[in-house]
Amino acid sequence: MKPPRKSPRLVLMPGCKSHQLFRTPRALFEKRSGYPLRMCRYVAEAMAARIAESKKQFRWKFFRGDFHSHTQHSDGIGTVAETAEMAKAAGLDFQFVTDHWGITQAPECREHGLWVGQEPKTELHHLGVLGLRYAYVPGGKFLEDCADLQRRGATWFIPHPTGWWPQRHYPQAAWSILEKLTAPFLMEICNGANNLINAFDHTDAWAITLWDRLLRKRRKVHAMGNTDAHAPHAIGMVWNGVFAARRSERNILAAVRSGRSFVSDGPLLQTTLGRAGMGMEASGRDRKEGLRITAADSAGLLAIRVIGDGRRLAAFDARGRAAWVRTLAVPRRVRAYVRVEAIAEDGRRAFSNPIYLR
Ligand SMILES: [Zn+2]
Ligand SMILES: [Zn+2]
Repeated sequence: MKPPRKSPRLVLMPGCKSHQLFRTPRALFEKRSGYPLRMCRYVAEAMAARIAESKKQFRWKFFRGDFHSHTQHSDGIGTVAETAEMAKAAGLDFQFVTDHWGITQAPECREHGLWVGQEPKTELHHLGVLGLRYAYVPGGKFLEDCADLQRRGATWFIPHPTGWWPQRHYPQAAWSILEKLTAPFLMEICNGANNLINAFDHTDAWAITLWDRLLRKRRKVHAMGNTDAHAPHAIGMVWNGVFAARRSERNILAAVRSGRSFVSDGPLLQTTLGRAGMGMEASGRDRKEGLRITAADSAGLLAIRVIGDGRRLAAFDARGRAAWVRTLAVPRRVRAYVRVEAIAEDGRRAFSNPIYLR
């Protein structure tokens, strides 16, 4: 057989050149920004459909949302409108935009139905500030700023308490100063900064270690999971399921301040101990009634873990189940708190807020 005269590499199908994107830089430029955002929207929509299906197995009413994100009003790449569009695709009931250095995003947020927060910086930590109608300027001393926010009636939280992925690792001083906060406070156990598809990374594993350490010392630390999205692509990646009566900013903030919420990027989770729900204190009588756990995920659960005083008390195989319900006794040796984790077959997970033991 004779070799082809032309090298096969040079043979083009008819019309090929008109489809080669590098030949149309303008179309390519638009696609390079539009295509990834559209793909992320499909991911968010698929998750919204999965959760809508999970809700059929879960009898509690809750609102899904994110307390922490950024736009071009600080160091985010997206607009408020893009954030709103993604929050809608993700099926979120609320989305806070917490830009740094002020609240100039507020008028646009109102226009697009988003809620306004802010994230100033103080000694060792950033501060998540919600529910204030004016820009907050910290004095620069961590403990004093937290007390000041409390006095002002703000809902405030500690974002990324151990640093953020991949390389910002906070010093031990940033971990240990949190032990000096004695009143109940909110802290992120999952922060999605710089993540796109999966919010959980090693800084979140450290945050969970820190959380258990604080809880063992009988600090009341209610957990949050927020995207800290600096790109609209990440909106919806992790969220809080908040057990509030109504979807108003005031109701949602009051509920999350009391720890009546769970953190998730997939499964739904509810735990009660007698009459005490998440974020509440259980009495001896509550304890006798046992820990009631309900988990649901239409994509299939894998395991349920019960944690007490920093140790794993029990682990259950829930493989392939869309819903899992059980009541179990809390061992007498557990003195400070119990909390529950639900893991789905695809590795997505939910964390209940703790029930504190008296
Ligand atoms: Zn931050
Ligand atoms: Zn942030």
